[in-house]
Amino acid sequence: MVIEIDLMELNQCKIKVIYILGAGRSGSTMLNTVLGNHTQIESVGELTNLPRSGWINGEYCACGERGNVCLFWSNVRQEWVQRSGIDNVEAYLALQNTFERFRHWSRLVKERQKKSLKFQSYAKYTKALFEAIRTVSGKSIVVDSSKNPMRAFALSLIPGIDLHLIHLVRDVRGVVWSLNKAYSKDEKQGVQKDIKSKPIWRSATFWTVTNLQSEWVRHQLNTRKSIQVCYEHFIANPCETLDKIGNLIECDFGAVAESLSAGDAMAVGHTIAGNRLRMAGSVKLNPDTEWVYKMPRKDQRLVLMMTGWLMSRYEYK
Ligand SMILES: [Zn+2]
Repeated sequence: MVIEIDLMELNQCKIKVIYILGAGRSGSTMLNTVLGNHTQIESVGELTNLPRSGWINGEYCACGERGNVCLFWSNVRQEWVQRSGIDNVEAYLALQNTFERFRHWSRLVKERQKKSLKFQSYAKYTKALFEAIRTVSGKSIVVDSSKNPMRAFALSLIPGIDLHLIHLVRDVRGVVWSLNKAYSKDEKQGVQKDIKSKPIWRSATFWTVTNLQSEWVRHQLNTRKSIQVCYEHFIANPCETLDKIGNLIECDFGAVAESLSAGDAMAVGHTIAGNRLRMAGSVKLNPDTEWVYKMPRKDQRLVLMMTGWLMSRYEYK
């Protein structure tokens, strides 16, 4: 009963969240960073990974400090504990595992009809985390670039979160080429473990499944609260894309667009997890077209044979 009353209270004060979803290696770190250069927006990267990667494992925040030492995230944690009364990060991780995994999607669909006590706890702690970020940053909008479509669906069921979705799509060949590269562990540079090269058929399947899941989640939501953004179009015409996002969340990106047009670098905030690009302190909007020149033609043909039908839907020629 107590938790139900809390949920009623949550409805009183909605927090605006922009969620970037789609396949990894689609440029979400870049988009997350650009949006975070708006004076009223705090871009936090893959928030789903904060409890484990930042607070428990102490992985590096983009500011150069470990996530369990960084002043911003330490203050957020303190504020979160005060607001929600939670005293156990592991318990919250268990709730995340219950509601943010694809294998539990049917459970989430049921939660839409009637919220279980477990989901109500997940909702309470998750909303409190967003509120803590809003309080500590002093900014009214939070960008979460966790990408995972099931987390987006779970967030959409939380009363008090005013969720706006950006489905970010990139040419499958760029994603597959990026996943085909291997990286050695370099924690300070944002690579937390050795990353093995992924077979192209597997990456193409991952791209297809994740984008279809993202479409499904968008379909479940009010369509006025979600848009699709093409990575290549964003890089080529950032001002146009920012206009589109501005219309979605009722926000003026004029100053950020002006800064981008002048070729300014975009500052990276306290971003946890995600692409190693975030560790550079600032990033410039440059197209990543390496695959165009380096990816073998036979690999490109194989990938397009597998995914051409979906690439056409996204208007890639
Ligand atoms: Zn930090």
